[in-house]
Amino acid sequence: MNAGGRSINYLRISVTDRCNFRCRYCVPAAPFSVIPHDQIARYEEILKITRLACDMGITKVRITGGEPFVRKNILSFLQQLCAIKTLSDISITTNGSLLTRDKIQALQDMGIRRLNFSLDTLDSARFQTITRRDRFDRVWKAIMTAHELGMAPIKINTVVIRGINDDEVADLAALTREFPFHIRFIEYMPMGDSHMEKQQQVLTAEIRQRIETGLGPLKEKPHRSYDGPSKNYHLPGASGVVGFITPISSHFCSECNRLRLTSRGYLRPCLLNDYEKDILTPLRDGADETQLKEIIQTSLKHKPRCHSLGQQHPKDIPISHMTSIGG
Ligand code: SAM
Ligand code: SF4
Repeated sequence: MNAGGRSINYLRISVTDRCNFRCRYCVPAAPFSVIPHDQIARYEEILKITRLACDMGITKVRITGGEPFVRKNILSFLQQLCAIKTLSDISITTNGSLLTRDKIQALQDMGIRRLNFSLDTLDSARFQTITRRDRFDRVWKAIMTAHELGMAPIKINTVVIRGINDDEVADLAALTREFPFHIRFIEYMPMGDSHMEKQQQVLTAEIRQRIETGLGPLKEKPHRSYDGPSKNYHLPGASGVVGFITPISSHFCSECNRLRLTSRGYLRPCLLNDYEKDILTPLRDGADETQLKEIIQTSLKHKPRCHSLGQQHPKDIPISHMTSIGG
């Protein structure tokens, strides 16, 4: 599959819009509605769409949400996903809070070794401020267990917010001296209605400067296929990697190889553009494989050359939170 000269081989699937956390940069403080259960794509529907997308060139899938592990029977879904022979890479993005040793072992047994955890701080009180949940110890334990069980590479995503965790970036980067983790600093993206104050956004140049002031110069690493949009560096003598994901200060649209499937069964060719194409309704209405593949192709025709963060939202598409699209 191709979109504007870019080869599309990566499908990011949001399996649920539900989450047991309420991270400040992701969801609003006030109660918000969730997608009714009957409008969420069922596992067999996701598998069908994924198989068709694999016929068309998708070889990599990342499972995300919401929090993937709040959805019932996720392990048996993942097992079925692993049975798709043309998929060479399956990874998961999680807040880690529900990942017990047994579940991590089950993931490893089915061949999933790549986990991205989200962790914005090493301080438990601060963790509670950011996520609005008291779960630091569980998340840290899950990361350590995954490491002990040999999951690799373990990636940790950190959204940097001024006045909340910007003073901690060097401490987080220092973890790469102790563990072979990839610590990836992500610029906050204003999405849905979870807007933080504009002044709270911290761009990569500043994050990098804070790390280098505290820990010494970062040396650039050659880019590898599974690095995605992360620009990677390492600290002298460190086994781990410090990465920067820069959707704001330096967008990576020209290299974007992704298509998203949202939890309500819409194809979304760009995270930061509101165009979505419903594939779930035609599937439920009995569309055949050729028609469904045409829908996948059509969605890719709308993959923009460059994202439009901040553009006005079209009236016919419901406002999407990061949780329903899948970050
Ligand atoms: N619940 C899982 C988790 O937190 O890892 C998966 C879903 S979450 C939406 C996926 C990623 O999006 C997380 O790493 C999170 O930090 C990131 N994210 C959420 N809102 C964001 C925002 N406004 N700007 C930048 N990254 C954001
Ligand atoms: Fe939940 Fe992940 Fe969003 Fe936090 S970032 S509220 S854990 S979906």
